[in-house]
Amino acid sequence: MKKYNWDNLSKTDMIELMSTDDKLLLQRLYDEAYKVKIKYVGNTVYFRGLVEFSNICTKDCLYCGIRKGNDKVERYCLSKEDILKSAKWAYDNKYASFVLQSGERTDEEFVSFVEDVLYEIKNRYGLGVTLSLGEETRETYRRWRKAGASRYLLRIESSNPEIYKLIHPEDCDFQARLQAIEDLRAEDYQVGTGVMIGLPAQTAEDLVNDILFFKEHDIDMIGMGPYIVHHDTPMASMMKDYDPKHQLELGLKMIALTRLYLKDVNIASTTALQTLDYLGRERGLLAGANICMPVVYESENRKNYLLYDNKPALTETSEENMKAFEKSIHRIGENIGYGVMGNSPHYKKRKEDNNG
Ligand code: SAM
Ligand code: SF4
Repeated sequence: MKKYNWDNLSKTDMIELMSTDDKLLLQRLYDEAYKVKIKYVGNTVYFRGLVEFSNICTKDCLYCGIRKGNDKVERYCLSKEDILKSAKWAYDNKYASFVLQSGERTDEEFVSFVEDVLYEIKNRYGLGVTLSLGEETRETYRRWRKAGASRYLLRIESSNPEIYKLIHPEDCDFQARLQAIEDLRAEDYQVGTGVMIGLPAQTAEDLVNDILFFKEHDIDMIGMGPYIVHHDTPMASMMKDYDPKHQLELGLKMIALTRLYLKDVNIASTTALQTLDYLGRERGLLAGANICMPVVYESENRKNYLLYDNKPALTETSEENMKAFEKSIHRIGENIGYGVMGNSPHYKKRKEDNNG
């Protein structure tokens, strides 16, 4: 087996590792990434309680099950009271952090609805809130930051503009997405981004370039996962040799290489991994991830937030979902950081450096 300098991998090394299917080498990659995770972020997993509060979307991304063009979707938007009920549940169960995700809308009714919800969460529960609501104006980001959001997850989806173009309709612009990430940083958010893994025409080098992109943009947290087909989307027909096992393996390699290269960032073990393998969550954590996002809304609507096929745990209650996460985490000998924000060491360091 070739000797790698695991602490300082070159781009060529990363492309080789991203391409390998040598089982021993892959296990070594995951083990090395796990060592780096323990050294830089420890063996505590932080929970972000997730509420997918609306599937109404004005966009038509070719891969996404809730795209506006999918007229089979029953649309919903949770009420302020329902979202606050979830925030209370998260607070009572010592999830120090809460994630609001939805389809993209930029109309004033939506912007002020989110703003209002944020003020209420801040005043009642003081939870750290992450938003994942897509591209907005800088002014909107400012309003939501002021109302209490502190983190924002906006995936670049692919750092290769050609792939971005291939998987989006014409009105989605790569430069605008990039600008939005920069606006979030300028508005003092902890910035999260990520990509979909295993996209059409995506090479091992593209994926390694995604990792270099995270570094270049000084990203604090990474939320990425394998692309999974949704049967009612235009992209389903572009995936002729789609292999879920391959998607899963690529997802794990990405986590491991990102951990080795960026070291001190937060990385999520996402639902997409769990969709592809019933042990996907654990495997993500063992490859270097340290964040999990259990759902915290009890709702008939969960079955209507289907980005891709076979999404798991659709009927689990928040309590059951929490227990399932606890079981997985304890099974691999890790702890849960109840009542702790779990900001990434990378973010803390940047803040200290900026304060001189
Ligand atoms: N609408 C916002 C946005 O697009 O940024 C936030 C919600 S959107 C559903 C969150 C993420 O879901 C997207 O950034 C995309 O990466 C992911 N996603 C959508 N369809 C997917 C699919 N078929 N497989 C895997 N991930 C998918
Ligand atoms: Fe809408 Fe986000 Fe899905 Fe694109 S990925 S269609 S913006 S919910």
